[in-house]
Amino acid sequence: MPQIIDGKAISGAIKDELKNKVEELKAEGIHICLAVIQVGSDPASSVYVGNKKKACAYIGIDSLAYELPAETTQEELLALVGELNARKDVNGILVQLPLPKHINEDEVIRAIDPRKDVDGFHPQSVGALCIGQPGFVSCTPAGIIQLLKRSGIEIAGRECVVIGRSNIVGKPMALLLLRENGTVTVTHSRTKDLKEVTRRADILVVAIGRPKMITREYVKEGAVVIDVGIHRDENNKLCGDVDYDDVAPVCSAITPVPGGVGPMTVAMLMYNCVESVLLQ
Ligand code: NDP
Repeated sequence: MPQIIDGKAISGAIKDELKNKVEELKAEGIHICLAVIQVGSDPASSVYVGNKKKACAYIGIDSLAYELPAETTQEELLALVGELNARKDVNGILVQLPLPKHINEDEVIRAIDPRKDVDGFHPQSVGALCIGQPGFVSCTPAGIIQLLKRSGIEIAGRECVVIGRSNIVGKPMALLLLRENGTVTVTHSRTKDLKEVTRRADILVVAIGRPKMITREYVKEGAVVIDVGIHRDENNKLCGDVDYDDVAPVCSAITPVPGGVGPMTVAMLMYNCVESVLLQ
């Protein structure tokens, strides 16, 4: 049987380390504050925002919640971001995505001070990651690196294949694996013969957004498989982009859904909030 990579336990350990760090900072008179802005009341976004607030409370980070109506204009949102950029007592600013269609997400992300960009989505953060300079890293891929390292999985020199090239998962994932000295290939919907490419992977990271698409034909015997996807299957059970039951027997390690990558995203957001104090 493969090693089951336990995202719940690893994220719990990271949160406990951060809780201790925050206590030390408080003893030095340094408080950390995260501002979370939600526009509209998308139910999934409300769950994510709730989880972020809960994690802040556990670790000892203050959180400011802005729940704005769906009709909020772009100008109003930009004005709030500007106000939070200027506040010395606010260390991190997070705008929960997706935003309503009348608001330009790119413009809002660009308006966040890169020193407070704890989601790591600002072009300056992405550029810094690309050229190996300090800056915030997108939380989900940063969490995957932690999952691999804390499970004792070597990245350097290994064939890493990422399925998906989104700005928040696929691309930063590829850059992080490269930074860890993996040999990285990025695949997407225009990749010819996807199976042929994914079967080369020692480490396969799957972020496609298609339930259970990756079956054992895509996986080399003994590979490590990281499943980023989150969906509900026909029985309303959570599942990933990987067909877990089919793939688990052929790989050496795998992340389950739920309890794999999911819990890491919030843990790494908390990590970025603590880092923000050092960057500022
Ligand atoms: P996107 O939809 O933005 O990107 C999907 C990527 O997969 C695209 O690059 C697309 O290629 C590629 N793709 C789609 N179909 C195929 C195919 N048949 N063959 C090869 N590549 C394909 O998704 P995200 O990156 O935002 O998210 C991916 C998944 O991860 C989703 O299920 C999402 O819910 C989940 N997620 C989970 C998080 C967590 O905390 N666990 C956080 C973020 C996301 P192309 O670019 O050519 O269109």
